Amino acid sequence: MFSTGEQHEDLEDAATPLKANERRWAWLEVDLNAIRHNLNRFRRHIGPDVMMMAVVKADAYGHGAAEVARKALATGARFLGVANVDEGIELRQAGIAAPILILSQPPLAMVQTIVRHELTSTVDTMEFALALGEAAAAADRVAPFHLKVDTGMNRVGVHYADAPDFLRTLDFHRGLKLQGVFTHFATADEVETFEFSRQYQRFTQMLDETRYLGINPGIVHAANTAATIRYRKAHFDMVRLGIGMYGLHPSGITHSMIDLVPAMSLHARVAMVKPVPVGEGVSYGMRYHSPGNVLIATLPLGYADGLARELSGRIDVLLYGRRLPQVGTICMDMMMFEADQRMKAGKPPLQPQIGDEVLLVGESGTERITLDELAEKLGTINYDMACRLGMRLERMYLE
Ligand SMILES: *Cc1c(COP(=O)(O)O)cnc(C)c1O
Repeated sequence: MFSTGEQHEDLEDAATPLKANERRWAWLEVDLNAIRHNLNRFRRHIGPDVMMMAVVKADAYGHGAAEVARKALATGARFLGVANVDEGIELRQAGIAAPILILSQPPLAMVQTIVRHELTSTVDTMEFALALGEAAAAADRVAPFHLKVDTGMNRVGVHYADAPDFLRTLDFHRGLKLQGVFTHFATADEVETFEFSRQYQRFTQMLDETRYLGINPGIVHAANTAATIRYRKAHFDMVRLGIGMYGLHPSGITHSMIDLVPAMSLHARVAMVKPVPVGEGVSYGMRYHSPGNVLIATLPLGYADGLARELSGRIDVLLYGRRLPQVGTICMDMMMFEADQRMKAGKPPLQPQIGDEVLLVGESGTERITLDELAEKLGTINYDMACRLGMRLERMYLE
């Protein structure tokens, strides 16, 4: 059954509310059953004792944060992970009460907001920790926090050698409670394992030193999807699942290690079809010229929907289970594809009609176009591709 995630009440004609795929002939479908399947698959992989954090930052990698968060929590995730305070507030406003960790330290000015919305902050400077503690104490609360430890990525976090002392300094603060300690691996998805091992070793040594000081590190976590799949010893108390929960692989090397089902597919309907005579150009710059005897069909989505202009003339669409080439420059809000009417061995020509459904990402018959395929053509990764598509397209949920 389909439901529309986001409600546009101010846009709706109350008498005849239209679904997302009726309002616009281009939309994403997100299969929440796939999210459930993937999390259940990870549960089998990690065993019953390790907690799962569902990472739903960037609007759940374009899949819709509130809908994915609800499904993940219903499938056994205990924590949610977001990138910033506003993403956390959005989940609270959607009625989600589960613990939400902001995965990196926000600006100092946000401490009261964090306390008010009962978000859990990451901490990696003393100044921020003390401000958070003060804000919590002033509100008669105790703010839970997770310490981010830099074990080699050299991005954010307290240096691993300084982390135990950092925690000792905060140990008796009346407004703060250490709830967890974590790090992040820079190379968990790479074939080479030396850097991973070095980060792992620094992290465990830091944990030993912390415990030696009599400090309980709380929930220890380190693994993203790639580390969860590849390194059992990196599971600790909780794993942080992003890309894998959406059914995508962090890199080629995990494909054979776990079976995941992609949740996102991209759909559009043919908005216009016309025969274009031989020699006529199509779209801006006329970089494609008709070879004659083709039908040119227009789809109402473009680079503002995440299908970058650099993909022009390099991608395919699926119509009735057949691959047809996108042709001409991709416009901001439209793109064209070609249905060849010339005789070819074995295959009758396709006659696209206005309203026909086309797939740009997904499976039709024996053909399949993946986010990985688009990402590779664009010179990026599936994470980036999913986020791009989520920017403007509306979503339909299958559950
Ligand atoms: C985004 C993020 C994750 C999730 O990574 P995936 O590779 O998508 O599983 C985990 N941990 C942190 C700190 C992150 O920022």
